Amino acid sequence: MLSLAIAVISVASFVFPNLTSAEGKTYTIATDITFAPFEFQDTNGDFVGIDIDLLNAIAENQGFNVEIKPLGFNAAVQALESKQVDGVIAGMSITDERERKFDFSEPYFESGVVMAIAEGNEDIASYEDLKGKRVAVKTGTEGASFAQSIQDEYGFKIVTFDDSANMYDDVKTGNSQAVFDDYPVLAYGVAQGNGLQIVTEKEVGGSYGFAVAKGENGELLEQFNDGLANLEESGEYQEILDKYLEAKKSTDTENGFFGLLKESFPSLMKGLQMTLLLTVVSLVIASILGILFGLCRVAHNAVLRAIGTIYVDIFRGTPLIVQAFFIYFGLPAALDFRISAVTAGIITLSLNAGAYMAEIVRGGIESVDKGQMEAARSLGLPYKTAMAKVILPQAIRLMIPSIINQFIITLKDTSILSIIGINELTQSGKIIIARNLESFQMWLIVGVMYFIIIMILTKVSNRMERKIQNGKA
Ligand code: GLN
Repeated sequence: MLSLAIAVISVASFVFPNLTSAEGKTYTIATDITFAPFEFQDTNGDFVGIDIDLLNAIAENQGFNVEIKPLGFNAAVQALESKQVDGVIAGMSITDERERKFDFSEPYFESGVVMAIAEGNEDIASYEDLKGKRVAVKTGTEGASFAQSIQDEYGFKIVTFDDSANMYDDVKTGNSQAVFDDYPVLAYGVAQGNGLQIVTEKEVGGSYGFAVAKGENGELLEQFNDGLANLEESGEYQEILDKYLEAKKSTDTENGFFGLLKESFPSLMKGLQMTLLLTVVSLVIASILGILFGLCRVAHNAVLRAIGTIYVDIFRGTPLIVQAFFIYFGLPAALDFRISAVTAGIITLSLNAGAYMAEIVRGGIESVDKGQMEAARSLGLPYKTAMAKVILPQAIRLMIPSIINQFIITLKDTSILSIIGINELTQSGKIIIARNLESFQMWLIVGVMYFIIIMILTKVSNRMERKIQNGKA
Protein backbone atom coordinates (compact mmCIF):
# COMPACT_ATOMS: atom_id res chain seq x y z
CA MET A 1 0.00 0.00 0.00
CA LEU A 2 2.73 2.39 1.04
CA SER A 3 4.64 1.77 -2.16
CA LEU A 4 1.47 2.43 -4.12
CA ALA A 5 1.01 5.77 -2.34
CA ILE A 6 4.61 6.72 -3.08
CA ALA A 7 4.11 5.71 -6.69
CA VAL A 8 0.99 7.85 -6.99
CA ILE A 9 2.74 10.87 -5.49
CA SER A 10 5.74 10.50 -7.79
CA VAL A 11 3.47 10.09 -10.79
CA ALA A 12 1.61 13.24 -9.78
CA SER A 13 4.85 15.20 -9.64
CA PHE A 14 5.76 13.98 -13.13
CA VAL A 15 2.32 14.73 -14.49
CA PHE A 16 2.10 18.19 -12.96
CA PRO A 17 5.75 19.27 -12.83
CA ASN A 18 4.86 22.93 -13.02
CA LEU A 19 2.97 23.00 -9.75
CA THR A 20 6.25 23.43 -7.95
CA SER A 21 7.90 26.04 -10.15
CA ALA A 22 9.07 29.37 -8.76
CA GLU A 23 8.12 32.78 -10.12
CA GLY A 24 8.79 33.51 -13.81
CA LYS A 25 7.27 31.39 -16.50
CA THR A 26 8.60 27.85 -16.88
CA TYR A 27 9.04 26.54 -20.40
CA THR A 28 9.58 22.94 -21.33
CA ILE A 29 12.37 22.64 -23.86
CA ALA A 30 13.19 19.39 -25.62
CA THR A 31 16.67 18.47 -26.73
CA ASP A 32 18.72 15.65 -28.19
CA ILE A 33 20.11 13.03 -25.81
CA THR A 34 23.51 13.05 -27.35
CA PHE A 35 24.94 15.73 -29.54
CA ALA A 36 28.19 16.75 -27.87
CA PRO A 37 29.38 19.48 -27.56
CA PHE A 38 25.83 20.93 -27.85
CA GLU A 39 24.06 18.61 -25.41
CA PHE A 40 25.33 15.63 -23.49
CA GLN A 41 25.41 14.26 -20.00
CA ASP A 42 28.54 14.89 -17.96
CA THR A 43 30.01 12.41 -15.51
CA ASN A 44 27.81 13.78 -12.72
CA GLY A 45 24.72 12.92 -14.71
CA ASP A 46 23.96 16.60 -15.45
CA PHE A 47 22.94 17.78 -18.87
CA VAL A 48 25.52 20.22 -20.21
CA GLY A 49 26.75 21.58 -23.55
CA ILE A 50 26.66 24.74 -25.64
CA ASP A 51 22.88 24.59 -26.21
CA ILE A 52 22.12 23.90 -22.57
CA ASP A 53 24.46 26.56 -21.18
CA LEU A 54 23.25 29.07 -23.73
CA LEU A 55 19.61 28.41 -22.97
CA ASN A 56 20.19 28.60 -19.21
CA ALA A 57 22.14 31.83 -19.57
CA ILE A 58 19.41 33.33 -21.77
CA ALA A 59 16.71 32.20 -19.33
CA GLU A 60 18.58 33.86 -16.51
CA ASN A 61 19.14 37.00 -18.54
CA GLN A 62 15.47 37.24 -19.48
CA GLY A 63 13.94 35.98 -16.23
CA PHE A 64 12.22 32.78 -17.27
CA ASN A 65 12.72 29.17 -16.17
CA VAL A 66 13.39 26.16 -18.34
CA GLU A 67 12.80 22.51 -17.85
CA ILE A 68 15.02 20.54 -20.19
CA LYS A 69 13.84 17.24 -21.64
CA PRO A 70 16.44 15.14 -23.41
CA LEU A 71 14.16 13.23 -25.77
CA GLY A 72 16.45 12.49 -28.70
CA PHE A 73 16.42 14.61 -31.85
CA ASN A 74 13.57 13.07 -33.78
CA ALA A 75 11.35 12.72 -30.71
CA ALA A 76 12.13 16.33 -29.74
CA VAL A 77 11.06 17.63 -33.14
CA GLN A 78 7.90 15.51 -33.07
CA ALA A 79 7.14 16.66 -29.53
CA LEU A 80 7.33 20.27 -30.71
CA GLU A 81 5.17 19.51 -33.72
CA SER A 82 2.50 18.03 -31.47
CA LYS A 83 3.00 20.93 -29.03
CA GLN A 84 4.05 18.68 -26.17
CA VAL A 85 6.92 21.04 -25.45
CA ASP A 86 7.38 24.79 -25.82
CA GLY A 87 10.61 24.74 -27.78
CA VAL A 88 13.52 22.72 -29.10
CA ILE A 89 17.20 23.48 -28.79
CA ALA A 90 19.15 20.59 -30.24
CA GLY A 91 21.72 21.81 -32.73
CA MET A 92 18.67 22.09 -34.94
CA SER A 93 19.41 23.46 -38.38
CA ILE A 94 17.15 26.16 -39.79
CA THR A 95 15.87 24.66 -43.04
CA ASP A 96 13.13 25.83 -45.42
CA GLU A 97 11.07 22.75 -44.76
CA ARG A 98 11.21 23.20 -41.01
CA GLU A 99 10.41 26.89 -41.30
CA ARG A 100 7.02 25.89 -42.59
CA LYS A 101 6.21 24.22 -39.26
CA PHE A 102 8.33 26.11 -36.77
CA ASP A 103 9.43 29.64 -35.95
CA PHE A 104 13.18 29.88 -35.48
CA SER A 105 15.29 32.27 -33.44
CA GLU A 106 18.17 34.19 -34.95
CA PRO A 107 20.87 31.68 -35.94
CA TYR A 108 23.35 31.05 -33.14
CA PHE A 109 25.85 28.67 -34.72
CA GLU A 110 27.11 27.95 -38.25
CA SER A 111 27.10 24.31 -39.21
CA GLY A 112 27.20 21.91 -42.13
CA VAL A 113 27.27 18.18 -42.88
CA VAL A 114 30.46 16.12 -43.24
CA MET A 115 31.22 12.46 -43.80
CA ALA A 116 33.30 10.40 -41.37
CA ILE A 117 34.62 6.86 -41.54
CA ALA A 118 36.40 4.56 -39.11
CA GLU A 119 39.91 5.57 -38.18
CA GLY A 120 42.44 3.65 -40.23
CA ASN A 121 39.97 2.86 -43.05
CA GLU A 122 41.82 3.74 -46.23
CA ASP A 123 39.22 2.58 -48.73
CA ILE A 124 36.97 5.60 -48.58
CA ALA A 125 38.10 9.11 -49.37
CA SER A 126 35.07 10.61 -51.13
CA TYR A 127 31.42 9.98 -51.98
CA GLU A 128 32.52 8.03 -55.09
CA ASP A 129 33.93 5.29 -52.86
CA LEU A 130 30.56 4.65 -51.22
CA LYS A 131 29.15 2.46 -54.00
CA GLY A 132 27.41 -0.56 -52.46
CA LYS A 133 28.44 0.50 -48.94
CA ARG A 134 26.26 1.23 -45.91
CA VAL A 135 25.98 4.77 -44.59
CA ALA A 136 24.69 5.54 -41.08
CA VAL A 137 22.44 8.55 -40.49
CA LYS A 138 20.23 9.84 -37.69
CA THR A 139 16.44 9.92 -38.18
CA GLY A 140 15.04 13.25 -39.25
CA THR A 141 18.34 15.16 -39.41
CA GLU A 142 19.94 17.31 -42.04
CA GLY A 143 22.68 14.66 -42.37
CA ALA A 144 19.99 12.10 -43.24
CA SER A 145 18.38 14.40 -45.84
CA PHE A 146 21.75 15.11 -47.38
CA ALA A 147 22.57 11.38 -47.59
CA GLN A 148 19.21 10.75 -49.27
CA SER A 149 19.80 13.54 -51.76
CA ILE A 150 23.02 11.97 -53.07
CA GLN A 151 22.13 8.31 -52.50
CA ASP A 152 21.09 7.52 -56.07
CA GLU A 153 24.06 9.28 -57.55
CA TYR A 154 26.62 7.35 -55.48
CA GLY A 155 24.73 4.08 -55.01
CA PHE A 156 25.01 3.45 -51.24
CA LYS A 157 22.55 2.03 -48.71
CA ILE A 158 21.27 4.08 -45.79
CA VAL A 159 20.88 2.74 -42.25
CA THR A 160 19.00 4.90 -39.80
CA PHE A 161 19.63 5.37 -36.08
CA ASP A 162 17.95 7.42 -33.37
CA ASP A 163 21.04 8.82 -31.77
CA SER A 164 24.56 9.80 -32.71
CA ALA A 165 26.27 7.36 -30.34
CA ASN A 166 24.69 4.29 -31.98
CA MET A 167 25.44 5.68 -35.39
CA TYR A 168 29.15 6.17 -34.60
CA ASP A 169 29.32 2.72 -33.03
CA ASP A 170 27.91 1.16 -36.17
CA VAL A 171 30.73 2.70 -38.20
CA LYS A 172 33.39 1.78 -35.66
CA THR A 173 32.31 -1.85 -35.63
CA GLY A 174 32.30 -1.87 -39.45
CA ASN A 175 28.57 -2.57 -39.95
CA SER A 176 28.33 0.74 -41.76
CA GLN A 177 31.28 2.21 -43.56
CA ALA A 178 30.47 5.91 -43.25
CA VAL A 179 28.36 8.37 -41.30
CA PHE A 180 26.93 11.77 -42.23
CA ASP A 181 26.58 14.19 -39.36
CA ASP A 182 27.13 17.83 -38.44
CA TYR A 183 30.69 19.11 -38.68
CA PRO A 184 31.08 20.60 -35.18
CA VAL A 185 29.75 17.43 -33.57
CA LEU A 186 31.86 15.01 -35.55
CA ALA A 187 34.95 17.20 -35.16
CA TYR A 188 34.41 17.31 -31.39
CA GLY A 189 33.87 13.53 -31.27
CA VAL A 190 37.03 12.88 -33.28
CA ALA A 191 39.02 15.17 -30.96
CA GLN A 192 37.63 13.21 -28.00
CA GLY A 193 38.85 9.99 -29.59
CA ASN A 194 35.60 8.43 -30.81
CA GLY A 195 37.51 6.25 -33.28
CA LEU A 196 36.37 8.04 -36.43
CA GLN A 197 38.00 10.37 -38.96
CA ILE A 198 36.44 13.08 -41.13
CA VAL A 199 37.13 12.70 -44.85
CA THR A 200 35.11 15.35 -46.68
CA GLU A 201 34.78 19.11 -46.74
CA LYS A 202 31.79 20.65 -44.99
CA GLU A 203 28.66 20.82 -47.15
CA VAL A 204 26.83 24.10 -46.86
CA GLY A 205 24.17 23.56 -44.24
CA GLY A 206 21.72 25.59 -42.26
CA SER A 207 22.79 27.38 -39.10
CA TYR A 208 21.43 26.26 -35.77
CA GLY A 209 18.39 27.97 -34.33
CA PHE A 210 16.09 27.65 -31.35
CA ALA A 211 12.62 26.58 -32.50
CA VAL A 212 9.05 27.04 -31.26
CA ALA A 213 5.86 25.81 -32.92
CA LYS A 214 4.63 28.13 -35.67
CA GLY A 215 2.63 31.01 -34.25
CA GLU A 216 3.07 29.83 -30.64
CA ASN A 217 5.27 31.05 -27.82
CA GLY A 218 6.17 34.29 -29.60
CA GLU A 219 7.15 35.83 -26.29
CA LEU A 220 9.62 33.03 -25.59
CA LEU A 221 11.17 33.41 -29.03
CA GLU A 222 11.54 37.13 -28.57
CA GLN A 223 13.15 36.64 -25.17
CA PHE A 224 15.52 34.08 -26.67
CA ASN A 225 16.58 36.53 -29.37
CA ASP A 226 16.99 39.39 -26.91
CA GLY A 227 18.93 37.21 -24.49
CA LEU A 228 21.15 35.89 -27.27
CA ALA A 229 21.96 39.42 -28.42
CA ASN A 230 22.80 40.42 -24.84
CA LEU A 231 25.07 37.43 -24.35
CA GLU A 232 26.82 38.08 -27.66
CA GLU A 233 27.46 41.64 -26.61
CA SER A 234 28.68 40.80 -23.13
CA GLY A 235 31.04 38.12 -24.43
CA GLU A 236 29.31 35.38 -22.45
CA TYR A 237 28.21 33.72 -25.69
CA GLN A 238 31.83 33.40 -26.80
CA GLU A 239 32.85 32.12 -23.36
CA ILE A 240 30.30 29.32 -23.59
CA LEU A 241 31.52 28.33 -27.06
CA ASP A 242 35.17 28.42 -25.96
CA LYS A 243 34.44 26.35 -22.88
CA TYR A 244 33.28 23.46 -25.03
CA LEU A 245 35.05 23.90 -28.34
CA GLU A 246 38.47 24.32 -26.78
CA ALA A 247 37.91 21.50 -24.32
CA LYS A 248 40.76 19.05 -24.13
CA LYS A 249 40.12 15.35 -24.51
CA SER A 250 38.19 14.53 -21.39
CA THR A 251 40.07 12.41 -18.93
CA ASP A 252 37.53 12.41 -16.16
CA THR A 253 35.93 9.17 -17.27
CA GLU A 254 36.76 6.29 -14.98
CA ASN A 255 38.38 3.33 -16.64
CA GLY A 256 37.70 -0.36 -16.35
CA PHE A 257 34.45 -2.17 -15.77
CA PHE A 258 34.15 -1.27 -12.10
CA GLY A 259 35.13 2.33 -12.71
CA LEU A 260 32.33 2.58 -15.25
CA LEU A 261 29.92 0.85 -12.96
CA LYS A 262 30.71 3.19 -10.09
CA GLU A 263 30.46 6.26 -12.28
CA SER A 264 27.21 5.34 -14.00
CA PHE A 265 25.46 3.72 -11.05
CA PRO A 266 23.61 6.79 -9.72
CA SER A 267 22.10 7.58 -13.15
CA LEU A 268 21.23 3.96 -13.76
CA MET A 269 19.55 3.68 -10.38
CA LYS A 270 17.41 6.73 -11.19
CA GLY A 271 16.50 5.03 -14.46
CA LEU A 272 15.66 1.83 -12.64
CA GLN A 273 13.40 3.73 -10.25
CA MET A 274 11.48 5.11 -13.20
CA THR A 275 11.28 1.63 -14.75
CA LEU A 276 9.79 0.25 -11.54
CA LEU A 277 7.40 3.17 -11.17
CA LEU A 278 6.12 2.69 -14.74
CA THR A 279 5.78 -1.05 -14.17
CA VAL A 280 3.97 -0.88 -10.84
CA VAL A 281 1.51 1.86 -11.77
CA SER A 282 0.77 0.35 -15.18
CA LEU A 283 0.26 -3.11 -13.74
CA VAL A 284 -2.22 -1.88 -11.14
CA ILE A 285 -4.26 -0.14 -13.85
CA ALA A 286 -3.81 -3.06 -16.26
CA SER A 287 -5.11 -5.52 -13.66
CA ILE A 288 -8.27 -3.49 -13.20
CA LEU A 289 -8.74 -3.17 -16.96
CA GLY A 290 -7.96 -6.87 -17.36
CA ILE A 291 -10.62 -7.94 -14.88
CA LEU A 292 -13.24 -5.58 -16.35
CA PHE A 293 -12.63 -6.47 -19.98
CA GLY A 294 -11.97 -10.13 -19.18
CA LEU A 295 -15.41 -10.32 -17.58
CA CYS A 296 -16.86 -8.59 -20.64
CA ARG A 297 -15.28 -11.27 -22.81
CA VAL A 298 -17.18 -14.05 -21.02
CA ALA A 299 -20.40 -12.09 -20.43
CA HIS A 300 -23.79 -13.32 -21.66
CA ASN A 301 -24.53 -9.87 -23.07
CA ALA A 302 -23.38 -9.63 -26.71
CA VAL A 303 -22.63 -5.89 -26.50
CA LEU A 304 -20.30 -6.40 -23.54
CA ARG A 305 -18.62 -9.28 -25.34
CA ALA A 306 -18.11 -7.10 -28.40
CA ILE A 307 -16.61 -4.29 -26.31
CA GLY A 308 -14.18 -6.75 -24.71
CA THR A 309 -13.21 -8.21 -28.07
CA ILE A 310 -12.64 -4.85 -29.74
CA TYR A 311 -10.41 -3.67 -26.89
CA VAL A 312 -8.32 -6.81 -26.86
CA ASP A 313 -8.03 -6.90 -30.65
CA ILE A 314 -6.87 -3.30 -30.92
CA PHE A 315 -4.21 -3.50 -28.24
CA ARG A 316 -2.98 -6.96 -29.10
CA GLY A 317 -3.15 -6.25 -32.79
CA THR A 318 -0.80 -3.25 -32.86
CA PRO A 319 2.81 -2.93 -31.69
CA LEU A 320 3.46 -1.25 -28.35
CA ILE A 321 5.79 1.27 -29.95
CA VAL A 322 3.05 2.41 -32.36
CA GLN A 323 0.63 2.75 -29.45
CA ALA A 324 3.18 4.86 -27.56
CA PHE A 325 3.71 7.17 -30.56
CA PHE A 326 -0.01 7.41 -31.14
CA ILE A 327 -0.78 8.33 -27.54
CA TYR A 328 2.18 10.68 -27.02
CA PHE A 329 2.50 12.35 -30.42
CA GLY A 330 -0.58 11.45 -32.45
CA LEU A 331 -3.59 12.14 -30.26
CA PRO A 332 -2.28 15.36 -28.65
CA ALA A 333 -1.43 16.74 -32.10
CA ALA A 334 -4.89 15.91 -33.45
CA LEU A 335 -6.87 17.04 -30.43
CA ASP A 336 -4.57 19.85 -29.30
CA PHE A 337 -3.80 18.87 -25.72
CA ARG A 338 -0.64 18.23 -23.77
CA ILE A 339 0.40 15.12 -21.93
CA SER A 340 3.67 14.33 -20.18
CA ALA A 341 5.76 11.48 -21.55
CA VAL A 342 5.42 9.58 -18.28
CA THR A 343 1.63 9.86 -18.31
CA ALA A 344 1.52 8.81 -21.96
CA GLY A 345 3.86 5.93 -21.14
CA ILE A 346 1.69 4.73 -18.27
CA ILE A 347 -1.48 4.97 -20.36
CA THR A 348 0.16 3.02 -23.19
CA LEU A 349 1.56 0.28 -20.99
CA SER A 350 -1.66 -0.04 -18.98
CA LEU A 351 -3.87 -0.34 -22.05
CA ASN A 352 -1.47 -2.77 -23.68
CA ALA A 353 -0.94 -4.99 -20.64
CA GLY A 354 -4.66 -4.68 -19.83
CA ALA A 355 -5.52 -6.39 -23.12
CA TYR A 356 -3.27 -9.34 -22.33
CA MET A 357 -4.60 -9.47 -18.77
CA ALA A 358 -8.16 -9.55 -20.12
CA GLU A 359 -7.23 -12.64 -22.11
CA ILE A 360 -5.64 -14.20 -19.05
CA VAL A 361 -8.81 -13.53 -17.06
CA ARG A 362 -11.01 -14.93 -19.82
CA GLY A 363 -8.79 -18.01 -20.17
CA GLY A 364 -8.82 -18.55 -16.40
CA ILE A 365 -12.60 -18.29 -16.12
CA GLU A 366 -13.16 -20.54 -19.11
CA SER A 367 -10.89 -23.23 -17.79
CA VAL A 368 -12.89 -23.60 -14.57
CA ASP A 369 -15.08 -26.61 -15.09
CA LYS A 370 -18.49 -25.61 -16.52
CA GLY A 371 -20.19 -27.82 -13.92
CA GLN A 372 -19.06 -25.39 -11.20
CA MET A 373 -21.22 -22.58 -12.54
CA GLU A 374 -24.14 -24.91 -13.15
CA ALA A 375 -23.88 -26.33 -9.64
CA ALA A 376 -23.67 -22.85 -8.08
CA ARG A 377 -26.64 -21.59 -10.09
CA SER A 378 -28.72 -24.68 -9.31
CA LEU A 379 -28.06 -23.99 -5.62
CA GLY A 380 -29.83 -20.71 -6.25
CA LEU A 381 -26.81 -18.34 -6.40
CA PRO A 382 -27.29 -15.43 -8.80
CA TYR A 383 -24.80 -15.21 -11.73
CA LYS A 384 -22.77 -12.37 -10.16
CA THR A 385 -22.41 -14.11 -6.81
CA ALA A 386 -21.58 -17.42 -8.45
CA MET A 387 -18.92 -15.66 -10.54
CA ALA A 388 -17.44 -13.77 -7.57
CA LYS A 389 -17.60 -16.50 -4.95
CA VAL A 390 -17.22 -19.73 -6.89
CA ILE A 391 -15.67 -19.23 -10.31
CA LEU A 392 -13.20 -16.33 -9.81
CA PRO A 393 -11.40 -17.77 -6.77
CA GLN A 394 -10.70 -20.95 -8.71
CA ALA A 395 -9.90 -19.05 -11.90
CA ILE A 396 -7.39 -16.79 -10.15
CA ARG A 397 -5.37 -19.77 -9.05
CA LEU A 398 -5.21 -20.97 -12.64
CA MET A 399 -4.26 -17.49 -13.84
CA ILE A 400 -1.33 -16.86 -11.51
CA PRO A 401 1.48 -18.24 -13.69
CA SER A 402 0.23 -16.23 -16.69
CA ILE A 403 -0.17 -13.10 -14.58
CA ILE A 404 3.42 -13.36 -13.33
CA ASN A 405 4.51 -13.82 -16.91
CA GLN A 406 2.65 -10.65 -17.88
CA PHE A 407 4.28 -8.70 -15.02
CA ILE A 408 7.69 -9.64 -16.36
CA ILE A 409 6.76 -8.79 -19.94
CA THR A 410 5.43 -5.39 -18.86
CA LEU A 411 8.58 -4.66 -16.90
CA LYS A 412 10.67 -5.39 -19.98
CA ASP A 413 8.28 -3.44 -22.23
CA THR A 414 9.00 -0.26 -20.26
CA SER A 415 12.30 -0.16 -22.17
CA ILE A 416 10.35 0.58 -25.36
CA LEU A 417 9.18 3.82 -23.75
CA SER A 418 12.73 5.18 -24.01
CA ILE A 419 11.63 6.03 -27.54
CA ILE A 420 9.35 8.80 -26.26
CA GLY A 421 12.18 10.09 -24.13
CA ILE A 422 11.21 8.71 -20.71
CA ASN A 423 14.35 8.45 -18.66
CA GLU A 424 13.94 4.85 -17.57
CA LEU A 425 16.70 2.28 -17.31
CA THR A 426 17.28 1.76 -21.04
CA GLN A 427 17.23 5.48 -21.77
CA SER A 428 19.69 6.11 -18.91
CA GLY A 429 21.96 3.51 -20.50
CA LYS A 430 21.66 5.20 -23.90
CA ILE A 431 22.51 8.60 -22.45
CA ILE A 432 25.55 7.29 -20.60
CA ILE A 433 26.82 5.50 -23.69
CA ALA A 434 26.39 8.70 -25.65
CA ARG A 435 28.95 10.18 -23.29
CA ASN A 436 31.46 7.40 -22.75
CA LEU A 437 30.95 5.29 -25.92
CA GLU A 438 31.37 2.10 -23.90
CA SER A 439 28.47 0.26 -25.49
CA PHE A 440 29.55 -3.29 -24.71
CA GLN A 441 30.14 -2.76 -21.01
CA MET A 442 27.18 -0.43 -20.49
CA TRP A 443 24.62 -2.68 -22.21
CA LEU A 444 26.01 -5.57 -20.22
CA ILE A 445 25.45 -3.63 -16.99
CA VAL A 446 21.93 -2.57 -18.05
CA GLY A 447 21.09 -6.15 -19.08
CA VAL A 448 22.31 -7.52 -15.77
CA MET A 449 20.23 -4.94 -13.87
CA TYR A 450 17.04 -5.99 -15.68
CA PHE A 451 17.95 -9.62 -15.11
CA ILE A 452 18.45 -9.16 -11.36
CA ILE A 453 15.17 -7.29 -10.94
CA ILE A 454 13.26 -9.88 -12.94
CA MET A 455 14.87 -12.72 -11.00
CA ILE A 456 13.85 -11.10 -7.71
CA LEU A 457 10.33 -10.60 -9.05
CA THR A 458 10.17 -14.21 -10.20
CA LYS A 459 11.35 -15.56 -6.85
CA VAL A 460 8.89 -13.41 -4.89
CA SER A 461 6.03 -14.37 -7.21
CA ASN A 462 6.86 -18.06 -7.02
CA ARG A 463 6.74 -17.89 -3.26
CA MET A 464 3.42 -16.03 -3.37
CA GLU A 465 2.05 -18.52 -5.86
CA ARG A 466 2.96 -21.42 -3.61
CA LYS A 467 1.33 -19.72 -0.64
CA ILE A 468 -1.89 -19.09 -2.53
CA GLN A 469 -2.01 -22.61 -3.98
CA ASN A 470 -1.35 -24.22 -0.59
CA GLY A 471 -3.67 -21.91 1.30
CA LYS A 472 -6.57 -22.75 -0.94
CA ALA A 473 -5.82 -26.44 -1.48
N1 GLN B 1 21.67 19.84 -37.32
C1 GLN B 1 21.03 18.63 -37.66
C2 GLN B 1 19.58 18.87 -37.95
O1 GLN B 1 19.02 19.83 -37.57
C3 GLN B 1 21.20 17.53 -36.60
C4 GLN B 1 20.66 17.86 -35.26
C5 GLN B 1 20.85 16.74 -34.25
O2 GLN B 1 21.16 15.62 -34.61
N2 GLN B 1 20.65 17.01 -33.00
O3 GLN B 1 18.97 18.09 -38.61
